[in-house]
Amino acid sequence: MYASKKDQPHMSRLPVMASKRVLANSEDVDDAQPVQKKSRKELMASKSQAAATTVGTRRPPVAATRAPVSRPVRGVGAATVAVAPSRGVTRAPLASTAAKGGKMAAGAAPIPKAGSAGGPPRRHPWDMKGKVSDMKGKIQDYHVKMKSAHLEKENLMGSLAEFQSRVAEMERDLSESQERLLVLNGVQEELERVSSEKKTLQTELRNLQDKYRVMETLRDSQETENQTLKMKLSAQESTLARVQDSLRRSEDEGRSLEGTVARLEDQLHAGEMERRQLHNTLQELKASRFSPESRDSPEPRGHFPKLSHPRSQGNIRVFCRVRPLANGGLSDHIQLSANDAKAVTLAKREESHTGKSADTQKNYSFSFDRVFGPGATQQQIFEEISLLVQSALDGYNVCCFAYGQTGSGKTYTMEGDAQDQQARGMIPRAVQQIFAATCKLAAQGWEFSFTASFVEIYNECLRDLLYTGKASKRPEHEIRKSTSNKMTITNLTYKKVASEDQVLCLVDLANQNRSTAQTTQNDRSSRSHSVFQLDIEGVNAGRDVKCNSTLCLVDLAGSERMLKSQSQGERFKEMTAINGSLSNLGIVITALANKESHVPYRNSKLTYLLQGCLGGNSKTLMFVNIAPESDSFAETLNSLRFASKVNDCMIGTASANRK
Ligand code: ADP
Ligand code: MG
Repeated sequence: MYASKKDQPHMSRLPVMASKRVLANSEDVDDAQPVQKKSRKELMASKSQAAATTVGTRRPPVAATRAPVSRPVRGVGAATVAVAPSRGVTRAPLASTAAKGGKMAAGAAPIPKAGSAGGPPRRHPWDMKGKVSDMKGKIQDYHVKMKSAHLEKENLMGSLAEFQSRVAEMERDLSESQERLLVLNGVQEELERVSSEKKTLQTELRNLQDKYRVMETLRDSQETENQTLKMKLSAQESTLARVQDSLRRSEDEGRSLEGTVARLEDQLHAGEMERRQLHNTLQELKASRFSPESRDSPEPRGHFPKLSHPRSQGNIRVFCRVRPLANGGLSDHIQLSANDAKAVTLAKREESHTGKSADTQKNYSFSFDRVFGPGATQQQIFEEISLLVQSALDGYNVCCFAYGQTGSGKTYTMEGDAQDQQARGMIPRAVQQIFAATCKLAAQGWEFSFTASFVEIYNECLRDLLYTGKASKRPEHEIRKSTSNKMTITNLTYKKVASEDQVLCLVDLANQNRSTAQTTQNDRSSRSHSVFQLDIEGVNAGRDVKCNSTLCLVDLAGSERMLKSQSQGERFKEMTAINGSLSNLGIVITALANKESHVPYRNSKLTYLLQGCLGGNSKTLMFVNIAPESDSFAETLNSLRFASKVNDCMIGTASANRK
């Protein structure tokens, strides 16, 4: 009957059920048997239910649900209308059949049925015609019923389709509604969130309002304060204007003062330069004076050749220092003049061999730049050489020797006693002066750097006195001339020093080194030269001035001669080396004084090393230390003669006849 299962009417849907009920009710009514079984009252109730259902069909529950959407439900109404006539149609044929039956009964004599008004009449068994007509009537009834059933089915199908479309529509509406609901839920959540935010904001607002009130109070007080400050400000402004005025004036003054300072600095620098020149001139004047003529000029003995110029070379000065006697007494053969601090006389009493003539006294008079008696302190001596130390800072090479026999006081003069402040020698005092002076010169823009070295020359061999390594690994040394004509020693310790203490530590180290050597060789220090060198480098960056110099302090080997019979082996070698180097020192100084073209510096290690400090731009000071003991007379005379040559003094002897 149906094209597919899909086309079959659905019986499960609510509205269809309502219709089905309608149909069932109609069938119940039409069916004679159930009708007979039911009471009239029940039938009425059933009818009224059908009517109610019909009404309900008109307004089904779904339609009621849709009521808020307010859309008319036409389909349902139409279906219901279509059902109603079908009942009429179904009934009409029944009636007509009954009528027909009636007609037939008239002709075919049907058997009356007791107690039954609506059923077909009973026929006689022979009344086949009647039975056939009854059957026809029934068939007709069935046909009519079929038709009406068809009609009703179509109506129902229409209603079903309508219902289905309505259901689809409702489903759409439902999903729409669900979407809306979702949206609404979202909106509600948003609303809740917004309301909670609102609450928070309200709380904040209240807080802010509270703060605002506090701020208002503060503002009021600030305004009052502001007024006060404004008043103060205007007072300050006027003060500031006054201060600015005075600042401008001060700046003007400052500028003019800066100009003055620059001028004064220039003057100071020029003054410093002039002072250096004058200092130098003064020293040269001090050194270049006429020597007293000698009444007796014997050939000098010892290390010194004859000078061709009878005048001093200008930059060499000689100081004589007489050591005090060990017992504190006075020596009788060394005479010092109370009026002349430059003279010293050696007096020798010669007894008459014949006894007929009176004893004669032979005097050897010498004159030096200064003669210091046995009472002279280290400080007094240093005062004289401090000018030279200043020259070293001014950029002159300065060399200071101590010459004399062993025990005459050379080491005492040069180093002194480090423990006794009064007995400190020339080296610590010179170093102290240098570091004190550099501090002052720093104010004028000078920056100094110092390098110290300490070397010993023994038997024409060099030995580093600042060496701290293993004795077995002591390096060999050679004197080299650098490109800047500066003499340097290979493998020697050159220590950068920045303070007096550092230098004194190095002097101590040198003494330790010397005493170590001394234990292996008896009295070695008296037979070696020790050379302390301090290289000074000064820079005045502001004025683009530089100065380089070397301060050289030399404790020479003992100048005493030994009898040839005493000098054998190692001693002979030592004596030859000492004589050689001291003689060469004399030769070099003479050559410099004579302005000879060739100065034999290279003939000994000492002169070669001191080359830069002896000639040219250098200032030399020689101490001649003499021992006061009478048994040292010969050596003293020898030393004084040597020193006189250096000092460019004519050697003379004064003789005073004792009558
Ligand atoms: P040198 O080095 O010439 O061999 P020293 O300097 O060692 O001689 O002096 C020998 C001794 O004489 C040392 O004990 C030293 O202290 C002492 N002496 C030297 N000169 C003086 C002096 N001017 N005043 C006091 N003592 C001195
Ligand atoms: Mg000595």
